[in-house]
Amino acid sequence: MRLWRVEETERLVKSELARELAETWARCGDEQCLADTPFEPELVGVGRWWLGPFTIGNRKMGEIPFFSLPPVFTCPGHTPFCLKWCYAIYEIVNWRAHVREAAAYLLSLRDDFPDVAVRYLSRLPHPVVRLHVSGDFYDRRYLEKWAEVARRLPHKTFYTYTKSLRLIRGADIPKNLIIHLSADPFNYAEVAEVWRELRRGFITFVYTPGRDEELQALQHLLENTEATILLFLNHVQHAPRARVDVAQLRRRLRERLGPAASRVVFDPEEFAGGPQCLQCRLCWIYRPATF
Ligand code: SF4
Repeated sequence: MRLWRVEETERLVKSELARELAETWARCGDEQCLADTPFEPELVGVGRWWLGPFTIGNRKMGEIPFFSLPPVFTCPGHTPFCLKWCYAIYEIVNWRAHVREAAAYLLSLRDDFPDVAVRYLSRLPHPVVRLHVSGDFYDRRYLEKWAEVARRLPHKTFYTYTKSLRLIRGADIPKNLIIHLSADPFNYAEVAEVWRELRRGFITFVYTPGRDEELQALQHLLENTEATILLFLNHVQHAPRARVDVAQLRRRLRERLGPAASRVVFDPEEFAGGPQCLQCRLCWIYRPATF
Protein backbone atom coordinates (compact mmCIF):
# COMPACT_ATOMS: atom_id res chain seq x y z
CA MET A 1 0.00 0.00 0.00
CA ARG A 2 1.35 3.42 -0.99
CA LEU A 3 0.66 6.17 1.54
CA TRP A 4 -0.24 9.60 0.30
CA ARG A 5 2.01 11.15 2.92
CA VAL A 6 5.04 9.20 1.68
CA GLU A 7 4.33 10.02 -1.95
CA GLU A 8 3.99 13.65 -1.01
CA THR A 9 7.35 13.56 0.77
CA GLU A 10 9.03 12.03 -2.28
CA ARG A 11 7.64 14.88 -4.34
CA LEU A 12 8.52 17.57 -1.81
CA VAL A 13 12.16 16.55 -1.27
CA LYS A 14 12.67 17.00 -5.02
CA SER A 15 10.85 20.33 -5.10
CA GLU A 16 12.46 23.67 -5.79
CA LEU A 17 10.65 25.10 -2.75
CA ALA A 18 12.17 22.65 -0.25
CA ARG A 19 15.61 22.98 -1.86
CA GLU A 20 15.52 26.78 -1.65
CA LEU A 21 14.23 26.70 1.90
CA ALA A 22 17.05 24.35 2.98
CA GLU A 23 19.60 26.61 1.27
CA THR A 24 18.11 29.65 3.01
CA TRP A 25 18.35 27.95 6.40
CA ALA A 26 21.96 26.96 5.71
CA ARG A 27 22.84 30.52 4.69
CA CYS A 28 20.99 32.27 7.54
CA GLY A 29 21.20 31.67 11.27
CA ASP A 30 19.29 34.53 12.81
CA GLU A 31 15.86 36.13 12.74
CA GLN A 32 16.81 39.14 10.61
CA CYS A 33 18.29 37.08 7.80
CA LEU A 34 15.20 34.81 7.81
CA ALA A 35 12.84 37.79 7.84
CA ASP A 36 14.60 39.31 4.82
CA THR A 37 13.84 36.30 2.61
CA PRO A 38 10.81 36.16 0.28
CA PHE A 39 9.32 33.22 2.23
CA GLU A 40 6.33 33.73 4.49
CA PRO A 41 7.32 33.77 8.19
CA GLU A 42 5.51 30.52 9.09
CA LEU A 43 7.38 28.67 6.36
CA VAL A 44 10.90 29.99 6.78
CA GLY A 45 10.45 29.96 10.54
CA VAL A 46 10.63 33.43 11.99
CA GLY A 47 8.53 34.77 14.85
CA ARG A 48 7.39 33.55 18.24
CA TRP A 49 7.01 29.85 17.30
CA TRP A 50 9.94 29.14 15.02
CA LEU A 51 13.58 29.73 14.41
CA GLY A 52 14.55 28.51 10.95
CA PRO A 53 14.23 24.72 10.85
CA PHE A 54 13.28 24.55 14.54
CA THR A 55 9.63 24.78 15.56
CA ILE A 56 9.09 25.94 19.11
CA GLY A 57 6.63 23.71 20.88
CA ASN A 58 3.37 21.93 20.28
CA ARG A 59 0.25 21.09 22.25
CA LYS A 60 1.71 18.08 23.99
CA MET A 61 5.22 19.30 24.73
CA GLY A 62 4.68 22.93 25.58
CA GLU A 63 7.43 25.35 24.59
CA ILE A 64 10.20 22.94 23.61
CA PRO A 65 11.97 23.48 20.28
CA PHE A 66 11.94 20.51 17.95
CA PHE A 67 13.45 19.41 14.67
CA SER A 68 11.33 17.10 12.51
CA LEU A 69 11.81 15.06 9.35
CA PRO A 70 9.28 13.45 6.99
CA PRO A 71 7.72 10.28 8.48
CA VAL A 72 8.39 6.81 7.01
CA PHE A 73 10.74 8.25 4.35
CA THR A 74 13.34 8.87 7.09
CA CYS A 75 12.39 5.89 9.27
CA PRO A 76 14.39 2.81 8.23
CA GLY A 77 13.01 0.92 11.24
CA HIS A 78 9.36 1.60 10.49
CA THR A 79 7.01 -1.35 10.89
CA PRO A 80 3.45 -2.17 9.78
CA PHE A 81 2.37 -0.69 13.12
CA CYS A 82 3.79 2.71 12.07
CA LEU A 83 2.04 2.58 8.70
CA LYS A 84 -1.27 1.97 10.40
CA TRP A 85 -1.02 4.17 13.48
CA CYS A 86 1.80 6.75 13.30
CA TYR A 87 0.41 10.14 14.32
CA ALA A 88 2.99 11.88 12.12
CA ILE A 89 1.46 10.25 9.04
CA TYR A 90 -2.15 10.92 9.93
CA GLU A 91 -2.24 13.90 12.28
CA ILE A 92 0.32 16.38 10.99
CA VAL A 93 -1.80 17.71 8.15
CA ASN A 94 -0.35 21.16 7.71
CA TRP A 95 1.29 21.69 4.31
CA ARG A 96 3.86 24.12 5.74
CA ALA A 97 4.94 21.45 8.23
CA HIS A 98 5.30 19.00 5.33
CA VAL A 99 7.46 21.42 3.33
CA ARG A 100 9.53 22.29 6.42
CA GLU A 101 10.12 18.59 7.15
CA ALA A 102 11.24 17.96 3.56
CA ALA A 103 13.56 21.00 3.70
CA ALA A 104 14.87 19.89 7.10
CA TYR A 105 15.75 16.54 5.54
CA LEU A 106 17.67 18.25 2.72
CA LEU A 107 19.40 20.47 5.29
CA SER A 108 20.36 17.45 7.38
CA LEU A 109 22.12 15.85 4.38
CA ARG A 110 24.65 18.67 4.24
CA ASP A 111 28.13 18.20 5.71
CA ASP A 112 27.77 21.51 7.54
CA PHE A 113 24.49 20.50 9.18
CA PRO A 114 26.02 20.43 12.71
CA ASP A 115 27.33 24.01 12.23
CA VAL A 116 23.93 25.18 11.00
CA ALA A 117 22.05 23.46 13.85
CA VAL A 118 24.45 24.85 16.46
CA ARG A 119 24.05 28.34 14.98
CA TYR A 120 20.26 28.32 15.41
CA LEU A 121 20.22 26.48 18.72
CA SER A 122 22.72 28.92 20.23
CA ARG A 123 20.12 31.63 19.70
CA LEU A 124 17.40 29.67 21.47
CA PRO A 125 17.41 29.95 25.29
CA HIS A 126 15.55 26.65 25.76
CA PRO A 127 17.63 24.05 27.62
CA VAL A 128 15.83 21.03 26.10
CA VAL A 129 15.42 20.15 22.43
CA ARG A 130 13.28 17.37 20.99
CA LEU A 131 14.41 15.57 17.87
CA HIS A 132 11.88 14.02 15.53
CA VAL A 133 8.34 14.72 16.57
CA SER A 134 8.14 13.26 13.08
CA GLY A 135 10.86 11.18 11.41
CA ASP A 136 13.84 9.28 12.77
CA PHE A 137 17.58 8.73 12.41
CA TYR A 138 17.74 7.65 8.78
CA ASP A 139 21.44 6.75 8.63
CA ARG A 140 24.52 6.53 10.84
CA ARG A 141 26.08 9.72 9.47
CA TYR A 142 22.95 11.69 10.37
CA LEU A 143 22.94 10.24 13.89
CA GLU A 144 26.60 11.22 14.24
CA LYS A 145 25.74 14.77 13.22
CA TRP A 146 23.31 15.08 16.15
CA ALA A 147 25.84 13.47 18.48
CA GLU A 148 28.28 16.19 17.38
CA VAL A 149 25.68 18.94 17.96
CA ALA A 150 24.97 17.56 21.45
CA ARG A 151 28.70 17.49 22.27
CA ARG A 152 29.10 21.09 21.08
CA LEU A 153 26.12 22.23 23.19
CA PRO A 154 26.72 20.38 26.48
CA HIS A 155 24.42 22.73 28.41
CA LYS A 156 21.43 21.57 26.32
CA THR A 157 19.68 18.22 26.55
CA PHE A 158 18.39 16.52 23.41
CA TYR A 159 15.85 13.72 23.56
CA THR A 160 14.10 11.52 21.07
CA TYR A 161 12.45 8.12 20.49
CA THR A 162 13.72 5.79 17.80
CA LYS A 163 13.02 2.64 15.86
CA SER A 164 16.35 2.93 14.00
CA LEU A 165 17.68 0.14 16.20
CA ARG A 166 20.48 -1.01 13.92
CA LEU A 167 21.88 2.50 13.66
CA ILE A 168 22.21 3.16 17.34
CA ARG A 169 23.90 -0.16 18.16
CA GLY A 170 27.55 0.61 18.84
CA ALA A 171 27.15 4.35 18.17
CA ASP A 172 29.03 6.83 20.32
CA ILE A 173 26.17 8.81 21.85
CA PRO A 174 26.87 11.59 24.36
CA LYS A 175 24.96 11.60 27.64
CA ASN A 176 23.00 14.74 26.74
CA LEU A 177 21.52 13.00 23.68
CA ILE A 178 18.86 10.81 25.27
CA ILE A 179 17.46 8.15 22.97
CA HIS A 180 14.49 6.06 24.04
CA LEU A 181 13.68 2.88 22.12
CA SER A 182 10.27 2.70 20.53
CA ALA A 183 8.75 -0.78 20.64
CA ASP A 184 5.63 -2.11 18.96
CA PRO A 185 4.10 -5.54 18.30
CA PHE A 186 6.45 -6.04 15.31
CA ASN A 187 9.86 -5.06 16.68
CA TYR A 188 9.71 -5.71 20.43
CA ALA A 189 12.11 -8.70 20.46
CA GLU A 190 14.82 -6.65 18.76
CA VAL A 191 14.09 -3.68 21.03
CA ALA A 192 14.65 -5.89 24.09
CA GLU A 193 17.94 -7.11 22.63
CA VAL A 194 19.17 -3.61 21.81
CA TRP A 195 18.10 -2.22 25.19
CA ARG A 196 20.12 -4.98 26.95
CA GLU A 197 23.16 -3.88 24.96
CA LEU A 198 22.72 -0.15 25.60
CA ARG A 199 21.03 -0.08 29.03
CA ARG A 200 19.98 3.51 28.44
CA GLY A 201 16.67 5.26 28.11
CA PHE A 202 13.10 4.04 28.32
CA ILE A 203 11.38 1.62 26.09
CA THR A 204 8.20 3.21 24.80
CA PHE A 205 5.09 1.31 23.73
CA VAL A 206 1.84 2.62 22.29
CA TYR A 207 -1.28 1.17 23.90
CA THR A 208 -4.27 0.84 21.59
CA PRO A 209 -7.57 0.55 23.49
CA GLY A 210 -9.28 -2.77 22.85
CA ARG A 211 -6.19 -4.49 21.46
CA ASP A 212 -5.05 -6.15 24.63
CA GLU A 213 -3.49 -9.01 22.65
CA GLU A 214 -0.70 -6.54 21.89
CA LEU A 215 0.20 -6.55 25.57
CA GLN A 216 2.12 -9.77 25.03
CA ALA A 217 4.83 -7.56 23.55
CA LEU A 218 4.85 -5.59 26.79
CA GLN A 219 5.19 -8.81 28.72
CA HIS A 220 8.21 -9.82 26.63
CA LEU A 221 9.84 -6.42 27.19
CA LEU A 222 9.35 -6.62 30.95
CA GLU A 223 10.56 -10.20 31.18
CA ASN A 224 13.61 -9.64 29.01
CA THR A 225 14.85 -6.23 30.14
CA GLU A 226 15.03 -4.20 33.32
CA ALA A 227 13.85 -1.14 31.39
CA THR A 228 11.15 1.26 32.44
CA ILE A 229 8.36 1.06 29.87
CA LEU A 230 6.75 4.37 29.02
CA LEU A 231 3.24 3.71 27.77
CA PHE A 232 1.78 6.10 25.22
CA LEU A 233 -1.83 6.10 24.12
CA ASN A 234 -2.81 5.53 20.50
CA HIS A 235 -4.73 8.68 19.73
CA VAL A 236 -4.77 8.91 15.93
CA GLN A 237 -8.20 9.70 14.57
CA HIS A 238 -8.92 6.16 13.37
CA ALA A 239 -7.82 4.51 16.64
CA PRO A 240 -10.54 2.90 18.76
CA ARG A 241 -12.22 5.66 20.73
CA ALA A 242 -12.88 3.62 23.90
CA ARG A 243 -12.32 5.64 27.04
CA VAL A 244 -9.33 4.29 28.92
CA ASP A 245 -9.85 3.76 32.62
CA VAL A 246 -6.27 4.10 33.81
CA ALA A 247 -6.85 2.52 37.25
CA GLN A 248 -8.50 -0.48 35.61
CA LEU A 249 -5.75 -0.82 33.00
CA ARG A 250 -3.14 -0.66 35.75
CA ARG A 251 -4.96 -3.43 37.62
CA ARG A 252 -5.16 -5.57 34.46
CA LEU A 253 -1.46 -5.10 33.81
CA ARG A 254 -0.66 -6.11 37.39
CA GLU A 255 -2.81 -9.24 37.11
CA ARG A 256 -1.25 -10.21 33.84
CA LEU A 257 2.37 -9.13 34.33
CA GLY A 258 2.83 -9.40 38.07
CA PRO A 259 5.15 -7.09 40.05
CA ALA A 260 7.05 -6.18 36.84
CA ALA A 261 4.01 -4.07 35.92
CA SER A 262 5.32 -1.46 38.35
CA ARG A 263 7.94 -0.66 35.67
CA VAL A 264 5.20 0.52 33.32
CA VAL A 265 4.78 4.30 33.48
CA PHE A 266 1.69 5.87 31.93
CA ASP A 267 2.43 8.99 29.93
CA PRO A 268 0.75 11.66 32.05
CA GLU A 269 -0.11 13.96 29.18
CA GLU A 270 -1.73 11.26 27.05
CA PHE A 271 -3.52 9.31 29.78
CA ALA A 272 -4.42 12.10 32.19
CA GLY A 273 -4.39 15.21 30.00
CA GLY A 274 -1.35 16.80 31.61
CA PRO A 275 1.12 18.04 32.52
CA GLN A 276 2.88 18.88 29.26
CA CYS A 277 6.43 17.62 28.69
CA LEU A 278 7.88 20.96 29.74
CA GLN A 279 6.56 20.45 33.27
CA CYS A 280 6.67 16.64 33.34
CA ARG A 281 10.34 16.32 32.25
CA LEU A 282 10.30 12.56 32.75
CA CYS A 283 11.83 11.87 29.34
CA TRP A 284 15.05 13.71 30.07
CA ILE A 285 15.32 14.03 33.85
CA TYR A 286 14.29 10.65 35.17
CA ARG A 287 17.07 8.09 35.43
CA PRO A 288 16.05 4.52 36.28
CA ALA A 289 18.58 2.60 38.39
CA THR A 290 20.00 0.97 35.27
CA PHE A 291 21.19 4.25 33.70
S1 SF4 B 1 6.48 11.16 29.94
FE1 SF4 B 1 6.37 13.38 30.28
S2 SF4 B 1 8.14 14.24 29.18
FE2 SF4 B 1 7.82 12.16 28.43
S3 SF4 B 1 6.52 12.37 26.60
FE3 SF4 B 1 5.14 12.02 28.36
S4 SF4 B 1 4.57 14.06 29.10
FE4 SF4 B 1 6.38 14.29 27.79
